[in-house]
Amino acid sequence: MSSDDIPYAGFWEGALDLPLVFSNSFVADPETSRFSAADMGGSDQYFYARWSNPTVRALERELAEAEGGEEAVCFATGMAAISALLISVLSSGEHVVMSDVCYAGVTELARDTLRRMGIGVSFVDTSSIGAVEAAIGPKTRLIYVETPANPILRLCDLAALAAVASARGVLLAVDSTIATPIATRPLGIGADYVIHSLSKYIGGHGDALGGVIVCSAARAAKIRSGPLVHLGGALSPMAAWIIRRGLATLSLRMARHESNAMAVARYLSAHRRVGRVIYPGLTEHPQHDLAKRQMRNFSGLISFSAEGGAELAEAMHRKLRVVRYAVSLGKHVSLIFHLPTEYMTSGPFAEAPSYSAWAGDGLFRFSVGLESPERIIEDLERALGPN
Ligand SMILES: *Cc1c(COP(=O)(O)O)cnc(C)c1O
Repeated sequence: MSSDDIPYAGFWEGALDLPLVFSNSFVADPETSRFSAADMGGSDQYFYARWSNPTVRALERELAEAEGGEEAVCFATGMAAISALLISVLSSGEHVVMSDVCYAGVTELARDTLRRMGIGVSFVDTSSIGAVEAAIGPKTRLIYVETPANPILRLCDLAALAAVASARGVLLAVDSTIATPIATRPLGIGADYVIHSLSKYIGGHGDALGGVIVCSAARAAKIRSGPLVHLGGALSPMAAWIIRRGLATLSLRMARHESNAMAVARYLSAHRRVGRVIYPGLTEHPQHDLAKRQMRNFSGLISFSAEGGAELAEAMHRKLRVVRYAVSLGKHVSLIFHLPTEYMTSGPFAEAPSYSAWAGDGLFRFSVGLESPERIIEDLERALGPN
């Protein structure tokens, strides 16, 4: 079967929704089938589900379209997508300029594993174009950024980075998990790769793990026939089906995440126990003008500092009824988690001297969900006390 024959709506017993195909192997055409991934890279044939599967393929097509890219390759998790991308692009002796504040797992992967494999890593404040330019050397192959960056919600100017990358002959990869394609489409601004953890806003309900890389067809073929097939982090059809259902309501959910986050950010800004509130939609955000230019939606993530850090975290854990004290983000339910700066800067962000300038002693990372804003604010008041 070819991927042009995906049994879409009505194709199979009149079904209106995409069939969930669990098959991990497909009838092979003896004329064209080859046994090596390298021979299958550009092929549209289903063969073995580590290469591709019709349900996963349908999600890939929709994600490519959502990001305005030629092709998409899905993975079992966001980290699987990111590690595949880094391995696909970087070889021993080469160099990557990486944002000094990214998803902690990415920072640790670069610091511990890429360096051990002989790949140079410079951690740089990528909100400073000058710092990025200064870090690029003759061996640099890739600039890797996250915008907004988890958890300090610092932005990078993608148009400026793309200009530097193309002038210096370097590739630009953007983790756009927090922005989502509703806010920003980095490929249209000049990025070469865009990455999402599908476990967050795109899946949207905290019930599936997944990741994706969207890029040109040639780069996607290289990723599919190399790190997807060889590292083996393929997305399961069940997860693809769940994530695709989440994607169908992404624009509606992002509008609500944004309006809820704006209401909560304003409430927190006025609260006597709260110090700094970081949200790209607030005029107080140091890069609010850039956020307005680059984001059509300010997303649903807020970071804030508050009096009594760790004790307050304990009170939240005990007292909150609507908001859950838990990691992750982008779920329909509100999630809050305390990140002490001492812990972050002795761990993943040890090479990010600017981290504490944003985070102070510590931040609460608050992924504002889809509940009514009144219920969320009432719940916060249980832990923070009345204003
Ligand atoms: C969660 C997250 C990841 C990792 O994704 P997983 O699906 O958990 O592997 C990467 N980048 C960002 C910005 C994230 O929030």
